[in-house]
Amino acid sequence: MNGLQRMLKDIEMEVNLTRHLIGKDALDDQVMAAIKQVPRHEFLPADYRFLAYDDGPAPIGSGQTISQPYIVALMSDLLGTKPTDTILEIGTGSGYQTAILSKLVKQVYSLEIIEGLSTQARRRLKKLGYNNVMVRTGDGSFGWPEHAPYDGIIVTAAAADIPQPLIDQLKAGGRLVIPVGLPYSYQELMVVEKKADGKVETRNVLGVSFVPLVCGYESPLTGLEQ
Ligand code: SAH
Repeated sequence: MNGLQRMLKDIEMEVNLTRHLIGKDALDDQVMAAIKQVPRHEFLPADYRFLAYDDGPAPIGSGQTISQPYIVALMSDLLGTKPTDTILEIGTGSGYQTAILSKLVKQVYSLEIIEGLSTQARRRLKKLGYNNVMVRTGDGSFGWPEHAPYDGIIVTAAAADIPQPLIDQLKAGGRLVIPVGLPYSYQELMVVEKKADGKVETRNVLGVSFVPLVCGYESPLTGLEQ
């Protein structure tokens, strides 16, 4: 079995172990096909390429990490994408999740707050031929209003709260997948659905561990005395 085949098996095993939490026995076929096609080793620094097909996170520099393949697959599945979708991603990092999404949808807009990572990911995605993605340096807690509304939004860093601009920039019927919780502590992967009437429904999926979302956007409640 080669590295990629082992990684796919590991993802299947992890899906099976968490089936009661995630509510399914298998992830979407298109998502798994995308995972099969994207060369994860291209998204890791040379020193960590040996970890490319392990089902775990790995360092990508600037104190950040490429996410665990199972989590990338799960979040892509939870987003419930269609080939005609326009998706906003917050936290480009290595660009690996961006590449997976690029296979699944029409257009991906991705924001990364660390300029060095954003420049590197943009070059890498271009070199590998992912042409339906646009990567920009910026604080994703404000979203990317120019291209809104989005069919789906995925956040790959943990927020203390769901930033309101992201809900505002979601189409009616759209989904937001986001880890919410305390920095370097307990976080829940959440699916937020904006219904046709604009109402918002949230669902907790499972406990996860992400690097923190830098949040320039301040919730209106921040600073109020309790
Ligand atoms: N999906 C990426 C995950 C990278 S880790 C991958 O698999 O490679 C999360 C990334 O979110 C980090 O690179 C971090 O710099 C970035 N980030 C944190 N806060 C952010 C913000 N407010 N806006 C945009 N990116 C942010």
